[in-house]
Amino acid sequence: MKKLLKSWPREWRGSRAGPAPPGEEDAAHRLAVFEDIERTISGWFWATDAAGCLSYISPAACERFGVPAEQLVGQPFVSLFETDPENPGERSDRPLQFHFGAHARLNDVTVRLMQQRVGPAGRSAWWALSGHPKLDGAKPEGGGKFLGYRGSARDITLEYERRIEDSRLAEFDSLTGLSNRHRITRRFDQMLAAFKTSARPATLMMLDLDRFKIVNDTLGHPAGDELLRQVAQRLARVVGDRGEIGRLGGDEFQILLPDLEDRGKLGDLANKIIALVSQPYTIDDNHVVIGISVGMAIFPFDGTEREEIVRAADLALYAAKHGGRGQFRFYSTDLKDEKEERRLLEEALREAIASVDSAEENWENPQLSLLYQPVVRTEDHVVVGFEALMRWEHPTRSAISPSVFIPVAEDTGMILQLGAWALRRACRDAMAWPHSVRIAVNVSAVQFAHPDFPGVVEDVLAATGLDPDRLELELTESVFMGDGEATDTAFKALKLLGVRLALDDFGTGYSSLSYLRAAPFDKLKVDRSFVDSCTLSDHNSAKIIAAIIGLADALGMETTVEGVEAFDQRDVVCAKGARLIQGFLYSPPLDQATVLERMRSEALRIVPDGPQRHRPERRLVYRRIGVIHADHRYEALLRNLSATGARIEGLVGVPVGTGLVLDLGAGQLAVVTVSRSDDAVIGVEFETPLVSDGAGGLVTRHRASAYALAAAARMVSASTPQFLEVEVRKRA
Ligand code: C2E
Ligand code: MG
Ligand code: MG
Repeated sequence: MKKLLKSWPREWRGSRAGPAPPGEEDAAHRLAVFEDIERTISGWFWATDAAGCLSYISPAACERFGVPAEQLVGQPFVSLFETDPENPGERSDRPLQFHFGAHARLNDVTVRLMQQRVGPAGRSAWWALSGHPKLDGAKPEGGGKFLGYRGSARDITLEYERRIEDSRLAEFDSLTGLSNRHRITRRFDQMLAAFKTSARPATLMMLDLDRFKIVNDTLGHPAGDELLRQVAQRLARVVGDRGEIGRLGGDEFQILLPDLEDRGKLGDLANKIIALVSQPYTIDDNHVVIGISVGMAIFPFDGTEREEIVRAADLALYAAKHGGRGQFRFYSTDLKDEKEERRLLEEALREAIASVDSAEENWENPQLSLLYQPVVRTEDHVVVGFEALMRWEHPTRSAISPSVFIPVAEDTGMILQLGAWALRRACRDAMAWPHSVRIAVNVSAVQFAHPDFPGVVEDVLAATGLDPDRLELELTESVFMGDGEATDTAFKALKLLGVRLALDDFGTGYSSLSYLRAAPFDKLKVDRSFVDSCTLSDHNSAKIIAAIIGLADALGMETTVEGVEAFDQRDVVCAKGARLIQGFLYSPPLDQATVLERMRSEALRIVPDGPQRHRPERRLVYRRIGVIHADHRYEALLRNLSATGARIEGLVGVPVGTGLVLDLGAGQLAVVTVSRSDDAVIGVEFETPLVSDGAGGLVTRHRASAYALAAAARMVSASTPQFLEVEVRKRA
């Protein structure tokens, strides 16, 4: 106590020995009162000298933290505390340092005791500090020399930790630990406010799991929850510190990506997310496979306010989901009508299917039909089977691709009727073919998951009289999601019927080997994507094809290689061991009448016919664009677009080597060099290659903001043209 007393502020110091001089008795009394108070209240007192070093601290405070007072007294006061490292910048109070520097009053400033200086290791202690500066001189309000602080402190650790936990619950999703809707919305607002002034871009990604509902329904909610947790972990792994991930609820997620607007990088990131989330999960010994769709909108190009950007990303997500799932999309203004579009499509499909039923007697349908694509043996070009591919001829919009309408049918349950119809129709048509020729029919995972499915197959076989060994059902790996037992039962029932099973699109997405062990497949179909790139030397596709064929051989399965279009591809896949090929090099899908006619005339042998070399796709486009040269803007027509170049019609007299800027619309400006010039047609090469838009189209990586475009438009409108602009008409 004596030691402590020495460190007390001078005016509090008193002596208990000897006769008290006048006034000293008073001081002693006050000291006694002070000590009483100090012992009985729950807080402590403290004081500093003018340099800010601790000159007094209540003994109870030292006892509480097991540190002798000598160790603390004399230390700079602010060095004993730190501000909250978990919530930097989120505290409303200014840091202690700030108050001390300004000699300002302290009102319940929340601080944490520095772990290494005070208190037992491993436990945080939080104090609320109050205090006022002590000034010398008579003037009570301001003025006078600063002598130091006098103050009090309270331990608020319990209260503070409870508050933090409450706000954590209010800010984070308890299931996945990701930010919740509330927090991510606030973060987005903060980011937009800051980025508007500093002119930085940002991207909002909206994500939605594909087929999550099936998992929830078949395996139960606890399994669904576990799946969401695992998905959250995978998202965090891909995104890292590039952005903040939130779960909005259900199977919806959102990712904020500051300073990212490069559509090439964004597309790569989205693809990585899709690939990782689509890997199988193990949940309670069940194998679960889901997918994910991604929609993206970019600030400030697709909107400048939060609501606008969220709506844009939502529309992009919607388009991704309905473009076949497991895809990404960037927002573009064309997407605005997509929701309405989808509703109309659903309605039209319902009508088309209704007319199937009414025409069931003869199995003809005015809108829906099946085409048959030959599967050919490579050694002698003999047709060994056909794959049935569905076609929908919309009365006003012409052909709609099955990759568009099959997902609609799956989502609405219409696939059950549609699939049963296709099965019946295909088996009946196959009855008119030679017995050696098989028929393959695609079966959706939704159909397969239905407990009646083996019964439907049995009925069709009975009704048409087709030999079960001639029917091959094409399944995709998505049949393995959901209930493992039900899947096993379906496989057994189908095998018992004697039909053959093929695994379609093999090698895309999932790690497939365990499925091969689990299910009795007779055939693997090597996905077209491997064939597409098998002639490129820097790709592993050819090796993968060889590996798949080798694996199938070892397991006693057949393989069909899909999508062979050119002779050089055929040479590669044959060298890798392919014995069955299905592709445009042999034949596109044909209608039944043509199939029968060919069978009569060509005796089941097809001579391959197609290009010698496979050329990476050049897209035929027909679109008006702006061409800017020497401050003048021309109108021209864009044709033949690829990632690296384009053909443009409508400008005459542009020398080879000229540098131009193409205005491809929506802020997409591309710098090009003219590589060919022939009358009104020029060929150009892009300085920076275009990137995928996720939907089979091409876009520029970056865009110019609307403001920059308006300024540029003003600049180019006045200048004189150097080239002749001619009108090009659309050719047939
Ligand atoms: P899939 O089962 O993998 O069918 C092969 C697809 O590749 C077909 O597209 C076919 O026309 C196309 N193809 C074949 N050879 C070539 C080629 O050399 N080059 C190119 N570029 N493409 C080739 P299609 O007919 O558009 O069908 C797309 C997908 O729609 C099918 O993929 C299948 O998953 C689904 N589908 C089609 N018909 C049905 C059906 O009746 N039921 C179900 N559930 N799905 C179907
Ligand atoms: Mg197929
Ligand atoms: Mg396929």
